[in-house]
Amino acid sequence: MMRFYEIIKKKRDGHALSAEEINFFVRGSSDGSIPDYQQSALLMAIFFRGMDERETADLTMAMVKSGTQIDIGLPKAVDKHSTGGVADSTTLIVAPIVAACGVPVAKMTGRGLGHTGGTVDKLESITGFSTALTMEQYKEQVTKIGLAIISASSSIAPADKVLYALRDVTATIESIPLIASSIMSKKLAAGATHIVLDVKFGRGAFMADLPDALYLAQTMINIGNRLGRPTVALLTSMEAPLGNRIGNALEIREALDILANQGGSPDLREVSLALAREMILHYYPEMNITTAYETAKEALDSGRALAKFTEMVEAQGGDLSVDLPKARYRETLYAQREGFVWAIDPLLLGGLSVEIGAGRHKKGDKIDYAAGFELVVRVGDKVGSDAPLLVVHANSPLTAHFMERLRSAFLLNEAPPVVTDWHIERLS
Ligand code: URA
Repeated sequence: MMRFYEIIKKKRDGHALSAEEINFFVRGSSDGSIPDYQQSALLMAIFFRGMDERETADLTMAMVKSGTQIDIGLPKAVDKHSTGGVADSTTLIVAPIVAACGVPVAKMTGRGLGHTGGTVDKLESITGFSTALTMEQYKEQVTKIGLAIISASSSIAPADKVLYALRDVTATIESIPLIASSIMSKKLAAGATHIVLDVKFGRGAFMADLPDALYLAQTMINIGNRLGRPTVALLTSMEAPLGNRIGNALEIREALDILANQGGSPDLREVSLALAREMILHYYPEMNITTAYETAKEALDSGRALAKFTEMVEAQGGDLSVDLPKARYRETLYAQREGFVWAIDPLLLGGLSVEIGAGRHKKGDKIDYAAGFELVVRVGDKVGSDAPLLVVHANSPLTAHFMERLRSAFLLNEAPPVVTDWHIERLS
């Protein structure tokens, strides 16, 4: 019989844990036989001592095996995952693009987390849209129209849920092996055979520093490769909100605008096309990167991606002819000085959007689908003192104090900023 005390001590002293020890930990965490305080102690030891590649892969597999492993019944199931961002509705754009290119998309996804939004919440702002399909309905829809997006079942990697909840309250979220195994276990259990990761860096990301984000990306790629699931990562900036809209119905609106080629943030469009390119490359390995990009772009420009999105919404009970939820109050934040926009803080805007109801303070809170922000400027823009910076959409009146806090998300300066080129790094 293993003694959990010895496992904690071993990691505390900087040694690698064996697969048996890791399995013992994950089993004990799922069935509750290891008390929270001992699990938390081990998580903190992992936080400080780290895990090597083999341990991280073993932890991932142990979490995969803690629950159901889905077989969608396709020879190749390409999945995409973002480490979490603000105004990041890429899934809503990428999934229909690639489905329109013949890549089947069976996507399980989540709700908002902290200051970041979640695809399930966004889709549920469409009247009638259901993200709770049965497994049979899910598979049937993927076979029939090549695209389904549903809420991740609670039987996917249940050990991760237990550990995540403990990490959340023990200051052990920001550990690369723990984040990497948490994300990859859910992708693998949901049946992904090929994975595209969108790893965010910058102020609004869980891993703010570029070197940490790079290391996280490489760790997840290594897990995928070790476990025979080819994985590619794009590193994309979360220094500023990706799209122009923050909030559930507002983000659906922006995704629809991009799919209809009627505006929306150019950065959101470019990141979406880059992610779509990678999913297409996984599915059609004979293509080169330029052709894959052109294929994605053609599906978007021609409106085929929009048609695919509409088909999915209808198949899942949604009705796009009903207006998306609209807020009672609109309030504009004006620049009040001339200058150039140097920075827009995504972390602060994400947090403030939660305060007006776009996200949850605690599990089970009801979302206000209409609430959020519409950015009128982007980094690098020149503004006059009477120029609007942002429009708030809310269902309760806004205080002057709230508007001042919003103002602090914008950094304006007289001279133009040194605009670092929008960049997307690719790792495989
Ligand atoms: N997202 C996850 O799914 N897990 C983490 O640990 C962090 C972000």
